[in-house]
Amino acid sequence: MIKSQEIYLLEVIPLTRSARVLKDPLLYYSLKNNLQEGLMILIPLRKKNIPGVVWRVFPPQKMFLRQIGFQIQPIGQILISQPVFTSAQLKLAEYLGNYYWISPGIFLQMMWPFKNILRSKKINRQDKVLIDSPIDSRIDQKLILFPQIGHLENFVKQNQGKLKDAVIFHSQLRVKKNKEIWSQIKSGQVKTIIGTRQAIFLPFVNLREIIINEAENHHYSSWDLSPHYSAKIVAGYLKKIFNSKLKFISATPTIQDYYLSQKKKIELEIDNSLSKLKKESCQTEIIDLQKELARGNFSILSQKLEEELNGIVKKNQSALLFLGRRGFSKALVCQDCGYVFTCPNCGTSLTRHIEKSPNGEIIEKLICHHCGWEQPKPKNCPTCHSYRFKNVGSGVQKIEYILGRILPGQKVARLDSDINKNEIIQIINEFQENKIRFLIATQKFLSYANLILSQAKLVAIISADTFLSIPDFQAAEELFIFIQKIKQKLNSSQKFLIQTYSPQNKIIQWAINDQFEKFYQNEIQSRRQLNYPPFSYLAYLEFTHKNKLEAYQKASDEKLRLEKAIRQWQLSSIEILGPIAGLPPMKKGLFVWRLLVKAKNLSDRNKILTITKGRVEI
Ligand SMILES: [Zn+2]
Ligand SMILES: [Zn+2]
Repeated sequence: MIKSQEIYLLEVIPLTRSARVLKDPLLYYSLKNNLQEGLMILIPLRKKNIPGVVWRVFPPQKMFLRQIGFQIQPIGQILISQPVFTSAQLKLAEYLGNYYWISPGIFLQMMWPFKNILRSKKINRQDKVLIDSPIDSRIDQKLILFPQIGHLENFVKQNQGKLKDAVIFHSQLRVKKNKEIWSQIKSGQVKTIIGTRQAIFLPFVNLREIIINEAENHHYSSWDLSPHYSAKIVAGYLKKIFNSKLKFISATPTIQDYYLSQKKKIELEIDNSLSKLKKESCQTEIIDLQKELARGNFSILSQKLEEELNGIVKKNQSALLFLGRRGFSKALVCQDCGYVFTCPNCGTSLTRHIEKSPNGEIIEKLICHHCGWEQPKPKNCPTCHSYRFKNVGSGVQKIEYILGRILPGQKVARLDSDINKNEIIQIINEFQENKIRFLIATQKFLSYANLILSQAKLVAIISADTFLSIPDFQAAEELFIFIQKIKQKLNSSQKFLIQTYSPQNKIIQWAINDQFEKFYQNEIQSRRQLNYPPFSYLAYLEFTHKNKLEAYQKASDEKLRLEKAIRQWQLSSIEILGPIAGLPPMKKGLFVWRLLVKAKNLSDRNKILTITKGRVEI
């Protein structure tokens, strides 16, 4: 007779990139009682042995092995026989998995510097020593974050001597250094950690204080990397776990940060060190582009701006012209039939770019700013064969072209993401040495704002409207912060011009008059009315199909189905908007339609996300 035996069921989080779709832990079993939460083990998954972290161990059950069923498999070997993540890290990964609706394993991997172990499933001796260092939580720790390495280096330079016990942590450290810091923090050897957003995932043992400098800076969000987490959200959870002090420092706070400070969730320090330095602010002027049109000036440069640029030339000074669009134009359109060149991958309108080949030849290309698709500029329209095209909307390359025509012989440079880092450094050096008359830039210049704005006698926003044309609930905030950032850095000897088709726009008015409180009251009220963050949690649900109508139908059927569930479950605080066309409208040749879920609380939102057939994006 076969006897029943003690069986341990356990949940495991796989540590593999490809497991990102597995939101929930996987169930395995073990016959041994030596397992505890946080261990790193191997598990069989899709015919492979992959590393995973023991997430939860259930009390042993006396049962027959055959009762478990074929679905549940035994775990493989134990890779590291002591917990490799602190309990705070496990908790943090769980919170973040829920918030961003992905496997906590994705965050655990970001917290784990020993990527080699995940790949080779073996541990070398040096790594073992670092991993084995015991957790010691007797020390008080403090984390100071900066948006970019440049800010961090400045801070370290200014505070040399005071930071003897601090470690510096950012994305460009060597792997070995990375592992050492991980071990030192876990074993309580480090008091102060100064870093960029990646430092938020270090194994703190007793984090008493988190300080986030220049909190409005968008580099705290990982828009370039998936998952698109925000270090400020992560900091909010760390505060909860450690009951630590959380302070944001900001010259122009975001709506969300200001709201959180009013609700006493964070401490907010308004950094007015810049305005204290100067007696008077710069001369600011809004230029009405409607009036220019009425006057017969169809150029993107107003008469006033042209005059100012002439003045710059006469006085041998330099100017910065800002426009938030790369390339030559927004779109290329056939003049005869109206055909718009679009990207075959994602449906975004293609932007005309003009480049010089190494042998000086001019090359014209059409580039997709969304997915990077490139093609030579066609000679004829594919539908009517006309060769007459017109450029719609201006990009920085067009400004470069216009300046070359109206003010010939002046040195013009362009700063955008189409040029490389070395070229950028050279341009900034030359600009500071007054060797460049006109610098035309996209948002890219913000990383070097101090260097550029201290030299420019004139700063002009070519079109403030490009900010407001973006369909995003944070568009107004971005414009406000952008104008304020520039204004704060200019002094009374510098001029600041803002061109716009809507000169009465309140956002622009408030920004140039430093009326943050008015802007905030207006913005927070509209977000409350429209149920946007900080009053709700959002999620996008995505539906694709090769046929546009079918994709739309999938989304609208799903909307009805989810709304029925909302009624059944009586989730009153949740609404579903859409279908809205995807941004971009296509993905890999498939049409995209989306629904937007707005929920007052996270658990209601997640109830809907558990049952949706759409692809979830937070
Ligand atoms: Zn045509
Ligand atoms: Zn594209």
